[in-house]
Amino acid sequence: MTFGELAQYFEKLEKTPSRLAMTEILAELFKKVSSEEIVVVVNLSLGQLRPKFDRLEFNLAEKMVMRAMALAFGVPVDEVKEKYKGLGDIGAVVETQNSKLKAQSLKLSILGVFDKLVEIARDSGQGSQERKVASLAGLLKDLDAKGGKYVGRMVVGKLRLGFSDMTILDALSWMETGGKEKRKELENAYQLTPDVGELARLVKKVGCDKAQEKVEVKLGVPVIPALAQRLKTADEMIAKMEKVGVEPKYDGTRVQIHYRKTKNQKLKTKNYGAGGLFDGGGEKDWSVRTFTRNLDETTEMFPEVQSLGDWVDAQELILDSEAVGFDPKTGKMRPFQETIQRKRKHGVAQAAVEIPLKFFVFDVLYKDGKSLVKLPYHQRREILEKTIKKNEVVVVPEMLETKEPDKLREFHKRQLGGGLEGALVKKWEGIYEPGRRGWSWVKFKEAEDSKAKLSDTVDALVMGIYSGRGKRTSFGVGAFLIGIKGEGKITSTKLQASNKSQKSNDENSKQSFEEGKFYTISKVGTGLTDEQWRELKTRSEKLKIEDKPKEYVVDKNQEPDVWLTPGLVVEIAADEVTRSPIHTAGVALRFPRLVGFRDDKGKDEVTSVRELAQIG
Ligand code: ATP
Repeated sequence: MTFGELAQYFEKLEKTPSRLAMTEILAELFKKVSSEEIVVVVNLSLGQLRPKFDRLEFNLAEKMVMRAMALAFGVPVDEVKEKYKGLGDIGAVVETQNSKLKAQSLKLSILGVFDKLVEIARDSGQGSQERKVASLAGLLKDLDAKGGKYVGRMVVGKLRLGFSDMTILDALSWMETGGKEKRKELENAYQLTPDVGELARLVKKVGCDKAQEKVEVKLGVPVIPALAQRLKTADEMIAKMEKVGVEPKYDGTRVQIHYRKTKNQKLKTKNYGAGGLFDGGGEKDWSVRTFTRNLDETTEMFPEVQSLGDWVDAQELILDSEAVGFDPKTGKMRPFQETIQRKRKHGVAQAAVEIPLKFFVFDVLYKDGKSLVKLPYHQRREILEKTIKKNEVVVVPEMLETKEPDKLREFHKRQLGGGLEGALVKKWEGIYEPGRRGWSWVKFKEAEDSKAKLSDTVDALVMGIYSGRGKRTSFGVGAFLIGIKGEGKITSTKLQASNKSQKSNDENSKQSFEEGKFYTISKVGTGLTDEQWRELKTRSEKLKIEDKPKEYVVDKNQEPDVWLTPGLVVEIAADEVTRSPIHTAGVALRFPRLVGFRDDKGKDEVTSVRELAQIG
């Protein structure tokens, strides 16, 4: 397929608001391309060259892209800048400039353009900016108007077609069956190796069912982390899970650690994507790699775990842990907001001295060529205890084995008393379940007799901001609009029914909450410190966009002054969840207040409509 044809598809997708229609278009596209092309097509359609956990960035500022355009089209840079000011979109500038020059483009192939893009991204070191500009100019010259438009957006990191990995999975199912019935199988595979491009290649070759059988946990590729469900009382937990292992819930940051003993050893791991771009380590030599719960690589941020080899009895490992900062003088754990100062790209060595970390390793997912995710919790725990030698940095947390609600309550109370967030209750016979599903893990945060009405905080997406008035004019933000995600087919009937203080017979009850869309729950205008308002302003600057993203469902009267592209997640505490005619989630938060920015979470990890029903 030519890149020009692919660009036509991108344009069609961009103009399509319905997720179902997008799924069908993608399925048609996937059918047409080869198994080699599909990897590239999937990644490019998501605005990336490689999967998220193995990023390859262009490192080219908008300014440089404008220079490349000027060079390509033989016009002064100022003219390009002027156009950009007017259009506000690099892609649109390329499109107009390019279409002026020629109607016909060279018939560049998808793979040809991709190789060129990779070459530009990989170039580094002295003089690389100039070389990148020259190569990009060359590429833009050879592309047609539409192809150039999407390449332009891609290079500045703004190629957004309005869908994410889950839509790709649906489209792969659709390609095979004309429906979404294979989504579950594909999701199972994805949870273990969240590389949609490679998964697509595999589906193209062997079909959905076989793909699910073939995909395994792979060293160097993050597994989607298991998350906890919520239940309110110890009795409910024991009734649901029977025997459990209870661990302290540390309030730090999630770190998945991948380890292999020597850097260049041959991996025992199966590599299903023969000739693939990614083989569980990409181009890098590595011994220890770490990932966030959001699949971002954080290896550079945690130099202390590079010594993991000294503390474990294994050749290869995938460990799941919570890293918590502590005070080197007193040995006391630090609060979350201090720990996350370690999540930085600069000044890492200094920060590591000021805020040393302890890694509470609570699970092992893989050891010496074997995936352990299907083993019951207690067996994984046993392997874990045998694997980790005594040391000060990587520590297996304490664990209480019980079937008794009273013992569970007592353990939980002790954690709260010790200043922790609560307890993580894990089903004794439970497997490692990626994502927030099943009942293998349940979190126990608020005390049962607590006055707080909500059992947890809400992680919400900041969808837009309202300009400041009065004192807040100086901050540039007066309030912000937050939302949560739709998830499968849940109607608000269910949601309202679980909200005991409300009745469920209003017209909203027929509304369904589509996966991939975001629904508003509140406008937050109070409770932030001056510092937080400023921070919000700085963060939102980077996410501003002209039009409402098509995945946002917002009532006309609630529209903010400035829309933000999905990217900023905040943790919100509130007193109650109440029914709302104006918020599109059908409910709103009462007295919402900002607890903090959750940089460790992505847009797909915000609370869902279904989860809010559990919290409220
Ligand atoms: P919260 O916002 O309450 O911190 P969360 O939404 O980030 O929770 P949950 O699934 O609700 O995530 O809780 C699990 C999280 O708790 C994990 O992502 C991990 O970071 C943290 N955690 C702390 N201690 C443990 C433990 N012993 N076992 C598992 N996870 C733990």
